[in-house]
Amino acid sequence: MKWFHSDKHELHNPELEVWAGTPLPGTEVASRARAIARFLDGDVDFSRGVVSEHGTELLTVIHDLAMVDWLENAWQECRPFSETREIFPDTFFHPQMMMDAGASRAPMSSPLGRLGFYSFDTMTPLVEGTYEAARAAVDVGLSALDAVMSGERAAYALCRPPGHHASSAMIGGFCFFNNAAVVTEAMVRRLGGPVAVIDVDYHHGNGTQSIFYERDDVFYVSLHADPERAYPYFTGHASEIGRESGAGWTQNFPLGIGCSDEQYLAVLAEAVERARDKGVVGVVVSLGVDSYGLDPLSDFALTREVYHPMGAAVAELHLPTVVVQEGGYDTEDLGLNVQSFLRGVAGYEARDVSGAREASTLPQRHV
Ligand SMILES: [Zn+2]
Repeated sequence: MKWFHSDKHELHNPELEVWAGTPLPGTEVASRARAIARFLDGDVDFSRGVVSEHGTELLTVIHDLAMVDWLENAWQECRPFSETREIFPDTFFHPQMMMDAGASRAPMSSPLGRLGFYSFDTMTPLVEGTYEAARAAVDVGLSALDAVMSGERAAYALCRPPGHHASSAMIGGFCFFNNAAVVTEAMVRRLGGPVAVIDVDYHHGNGTQSIFYERDDVFYVSLHADPERAYPYFTGHASEIGRESGAGWTQNFPLGIGCSDEQYLAVLAEAVERARDKGVVGVVVSLGVDSYGLDPLSDFALTREVYHPMGAAVAELHLPTVVVQEGGYDTEDLGLNVQSFLRGVAGYEARDVSGAREASTLPQRHV
């Protein structure tokens, strides 16, 4: 299997984030991608492809041009207000502000106002190289799609920063540009038929859902922790099924605490069947392995053994497939779990993954 990666991700390596008001070491950091790359470089069944630049044409189909332009200069314009190299918003745009107001727009004369307008949490700091890293992640995804369009049945995009929490004009959840959504838009155009986004990250992909919520050429299906207890808290309920012509083109499977390998695989099989029912002609997987039981953000009970059959379940669609990296924060087993999933997608046999640790060595962040 071909896989794609850019060293430019190193330009976005925040040392801190703010969680529950507390400054903590960064979670979505460069060592994650290094951990995955190490495993794939050590596997003869995988080979690196060349990443090429794709410009902003498709990026600005998915994201507002004004948001893309803002992000390019946001760190620089906010720099005078922060004593750390990371920049955080302090005021957020809330829907209730708009009850009696006019059209929403970013404030023209306030850098911090603009930052708050485009952000939804305090875990997504901007650093000097954020824009360049996020642009490169989109190129990584589109390069993987190029490989699939050239005849590879599946390819992997090791994107960093991730993307599935980012909406058309909103950053958050460690995400800036929605890599999977851009790849999906490109795949729909190139294959000429509906595409499934199968999102297996522990968290609901609110950004991807919102981008395609009114469309009937993208089937967004997600397995994730129930938003009643888990980030991003406000989206991912089973009742969210799409709107207008997109009605029936979104499907959410919120899952309970302690979800087991067997339970997860049964729900995934159902999700894959729904994608088949939609007549999709291509697949984009939002691969988050923060579903892993030892991940600091997870409260599932998934083991190393689940990832190969997960990949194999997606492969049963026998469709052109691009796997896009989203979350996964247990850097010790992150590479192994991604490798297992990809081997399943590619139809390669499972590797021995025995010897799992008893407990996480990382501080648990879920609530
Ligand atoms: Zn996640």
